[in-house]
Amino acid sequence: MATVEWRSPASEMAVRQFEMAAEKLSLDKNVAARLRRPDRALIVSVPTRMDDGRVHVFTGYRVQHNDVLGPFKGGIRYHPDVNLGEVSALAMWMTWKCSLVGLPLGGAKGGIACDPSNLSRNELQGMTRRYTAEILNFIGPEVDIPAPDMGTNEQVMAWVMDTYSQHKGYAVPEVVTGKPVDIGGTQGRREATGRGVVYTIMEAAKHRGLDLAKCSAAVQGFGNVGLVTARELASLGVEVRAVSDRSGAVWSKKGLPVEELILYKEKNRRLEGFPQGEKISGNEILELQCDILVPAAGEMQITGENAPKLKCKILAEGANGPTTREADEILMDRGVFVIPDILANAGGVIVSYFEWVQDLQNFFWTAEEVNKKLREILTRTFYEVVNMSQREKVDMRLAALMIGVNRVARAMLWRGLYA
Ligand code: NAD
Repeated sequence: MATVEWRSPASEMAVRQFEMAAEKLSLDKNVAARLRRPDRALIVSVPTRMDDGRVHVFTGYRVQHNDVLGPFKGGIRYHPDVNLGEVSALAMWMTWKCSLVGLPLGGAKGGIACDPSNLSRNELQGMTRRYTAEILNFIGPEVDIPAPDMGTNEQVMAWVMDTYSQHKGYAVPEVVTGKPVDIGGTQGRREATGRGVVYTIMEAAKHRGLDLAKCSAAVQGFGNVGLVTARELASLGVEVRAVSDRSGAVWSKKGLPVEELILYKEKNRRLEGFPQGEKISGNEILELQCDILVPAAGEMQITGENAPKLKCKILAEGANGPTTREADEILMDRGVFVIPDILANAGGVIVSYFEWVQDLQNFFWTAEEVNKKLREILTRTFYEVVNMSQREKVDMRLAALMIGVNRVARAMLWRGLYA
């Protein structure tokens, strides 16, 4: 049985960020005390029949941080480092993210401590179905709607949807988002997070007077978020000089052929061995000479140690929590323009919200409608955050958190305490 530990470096970072926003907002003390911790946290055992006949018991989590604005919403992560503290931090960030972009949704997150790359399709399906069964009474279209995150994809969401539906006795596509389009998914969800990252980069470039067609970029992580971000940046004429995944990093001063990288990754499931460019280390990619840096892998990648060495002008956080507070201060002093995670990667939850709305109405939109509405929300929010940052003389992260936290706090005060 895994240790039950609330605190982790990620959860401490999330709480510290919240406290900074709460202090700046002079937040009601009772509301602040409540928002520091989640509404509910589940730890479940997930017994799974492995291909060799053994039963392996994985540990799964679902943390629901706050649902004052609407049903809980948040991804499911499959990764060896998943723990209660990390999931709690991610759930809290989801609350602020949904609130910041104005969605009628709360914040949650789930996950299983496992390495999905070492599981067969059969094992992955068995584990996913049992995890869904274990959290079944705590999720639902009006309660908590999961989605994909690191290590999960639309196939995993399809199994979640099917398991839930089998228990109910009828199809319930609206219980989960990020599903395949064939079973009630929306156009544009797969690309939504990366596309959203690029929409915010476009506004940041305008704001900073940069011509994207003359810019270069490096992208850490080449999964759902990183791959789409690299492709979309390249389509705007940005020179993508480096990309990385868990297997390694590749760099070329003249720019990499992004479509060839994608084909290589699809075929080999890893970047290692890509025949063009130079191999560099996973750490080096963050410190390369480039205009735009996109961390799109794990948390706490940019720290007090490497922040002084970053050379980018724009840091667009595709990942959740990639930058520590110490690094934030250094980046601010050095004039790096940070597009914080809860803004930069909000495209995923925005289009998940569109998917949920379409499922509830049984009425589906075109890809053009989805992308147009996504861009409108992100552009509007980008300038709300810029204005808050200028008015309050705070960095972009604190400005985004202040907007997100304040909306939740106002709703809590209206609704009052049920006792
Ligand atoms: P994914 O599993 O599809 O891809 C993750 C990628 O990161 C893989 O290419 C993996 O090899 C790589 N990676 C892992 N560790 C690495 C390391 N140390 N160095 C370099 N690369 C590494 O996951 P994803 O869905 O793209 O999620 C990435 C990040 O974006 C996570 O922080 C996640 O929470 C966040 N995010 C995802 C979504 C979404 O819609 N999927 C939405 C918002 C935020």
